[in-house]
Amino acid sequence: MLNKQKLAERDERKRCELDTELLSAKYPDIESIVIIMDYYQKGYKHLMMKRTVNFSPESHAYFLMECMKHDCLEGGFNLTPVISSMVRKNITSEKGELTCQGNNSSEHAHIVFNISIKYNKNIS
Ligand SMILES: [Zn+2]
Repeated sequence: MLNKQKLAERDERKRCELDTELLSAKYPDIESIVIIMDYYQKGYKHLMMKRTVNFSPESHAYFLMECMKHDCLEGGFNLTPVISSMVRKNITSEKGELTCQGNNSSEHAHIVFNISIKYNKNIS
């Protein structure tokens, strides 16, 4: 069950996403981005969820991934710095881990991510 605050936060983030510029505007040289996330929650030994998120040039360049914990507020996993650093260095794939900072950083969840970026070949 999602509480009201979480739903309000989700609405707010959806609005932010729609306000964010398109991938084609932010990174014209990118053809696609694929983010694969293994989601782990404290108290569960095993992988809780696997998510794959695909971005095309028509997608909004919004890389804040939601934390799945029902009562987590102000949390999530911000992949924006990872992606901008990958683009700067022209890296095509990167792995890493991020801990959710929601609910006053109780470290209740983390993700193991794997990001793949496909760049346009027709870059001069
Ligand atoms: Zn969280």
